[in-house]
Amino acid sequence: MIDEKLEPIYDEVLKRNPGEVEFHQAVREVLDSLGPVIAKHPEFAERKIIQRICEPERQIIFRVPWTDDAGQVHINRGMRVEFNSALGPYKGGLRFHPSVNLGIVKFLGFEQIFKNALTSLPIGGGKGGSDFDPKGRSDAEIMHFCQSFMTELYRHIGEYTDVPAGDIGVSTREIGYLFGQYKRITNRYESGVLTGKGTQWGGALVRTEATGYGLVYFLECMLASRGLETEGRSAVVSGSGNVAIYAISKLQDMGVKVIACSDSNGYVHDADGIDLDLLKQVKEVERARLTRYAEKRPGARHSDRGTIWQIPCDIALPCATQNELSGKDAATLLENGCIAVAEGANMPASPEAVRAFTEAGILFGPGKAANAGGVATSALEMQQNASRDSWTADFTEKRLADIMRSIHRLCFETADEFGAEGDLVKGANIAGFQRVAGGMVALGLI
Ligand code: NAP
Repeated sequence: MIDEKLEPIYDEVLKRNPGEVEFHQAVREVLDSLGPVIAKHPEFAERKIIQRICEPERQIIFRVPWTDDAGQVHINRGMRVEFNSALGPYKGGLRFHPSVNLGIVKFLGFEQIFKNALTSLPIGGGKGGSDFDPKGRSDAEIMHFCQSFMTELYRHIGEYTDVPAGDIGVSTREIGYLFGQYKRITNRYESGVLTGKGTQWGGALVRTEATGYGLVYFLECMLASRGLETEGRSAVVSGSGNVAIYAISKLQDMGVKVIACSDSNGYVHDADGIDLDLLKQVKEVERARLTRYAEKRPGARHSDRGTIWQIPCDIALPCATQNELSGKDAATLLENGCIAVAEGANMPASPEAVRAFTEAGILFGPGKAANAGGVATSALEMQQNASRDSWTADFTEKRLADIMRSIHRLCFETADEFGAEGDLVKGANIAGFQRVAGGMVALGLI
């Protein structure tokens, strides 16, 4: 429930940002937690910190023209929302997907502010992307699109200004084309301007794996907080992209049997446990659909009916996209005995689903805490670029694991401090907000 002092602020957000439903949802979820913080810190209300946090510092929308292999001209829309730079340069990924619009970029940018604050590293929040659909496009078409996109974006970013990374539809290949064009236009090998780079040209070891690995380290802390073991459990992971694949990998390392994953055409149920090498071959090398996995794996079943959440499991990790797990899906998971849900994707559980998990008292890890390992390792990539250094995989993964444990501790202890014992949603929202708000107070009215 939103505090009555905060209701008018939320109403104003609705009025100023019509039709941006995902942004409204993300703001509402944070504001729901902030009543006790405003009561404790009247200076935040006096300085209108919440109203300022809800208004991006800068929003850039631009045309991206490009030609396909047949010489046809296409026009897409590019966006970058530079949301909040109180704690450091804007930092957040780029998403290339036909569903991208300003409301989605703003919801992602808003979440990113608090997520980045939770890492304790000096990074602000931003997000960007385009309604470009990379599916089925050739390598040359992807390169032409990325070059055109960067031809406008380059003037707005920089290692001290705004540092984009990948997200849905943007991985090392796209970051390569984007970085190449930035370098060509500016004549600067400014490694720290983008993260998620290939390891031969300034990227950090473990960045590719970081969001999925970090998610599982966070899950381990959640289970441990109730004295529960991770090993020996069963898990369902939605998606089969970057986050999902490396979450599955780390779960398997920890002795968890992952029995299902999905893409936007359906899911595979593999009761013997997902074959990770085959999944990587299908998704990372062949860039094919999951039906190919089922064709090659005896015993695995592909389905495009119902949802992946019908499969009974101990642990559910939604790692595909926003609002992919409904209230009804949550009820099914609970009926089937699920004990823990952690969000690898951003806002994948609908508000009804989050309420159902919280009321049932099962473990629930919100995305802004649970999937912060990706951006945290991006910040470690920036550190390596700034010092012209390259750390080992072991050292970087150890730092990632330490960061995830300290994010869990911070959320857990903050929830306790504000009378919401074990509620990591409140803990994450309050802890992230307090850090950003403190920075904003210190920097004055800007
Ligand atoms: P990705 O590599 O592009 O993979 C996305 C996966 O989700 C694919 O399997 C995709 O299936 C599926 N998917 C996308 N849109 C969908 C839709 N509308 N319905 C059903 N399935 C859909 O992206 P990613 O980097 O793993 O990102 C996944 C989520 O994690 C996003 O919410 C992202 O914001 C969040 N996240 C990512 C990072 C990171 O470091 N990459 C960090 C923090 C949070 P298809 O192949 O069929 O499209």
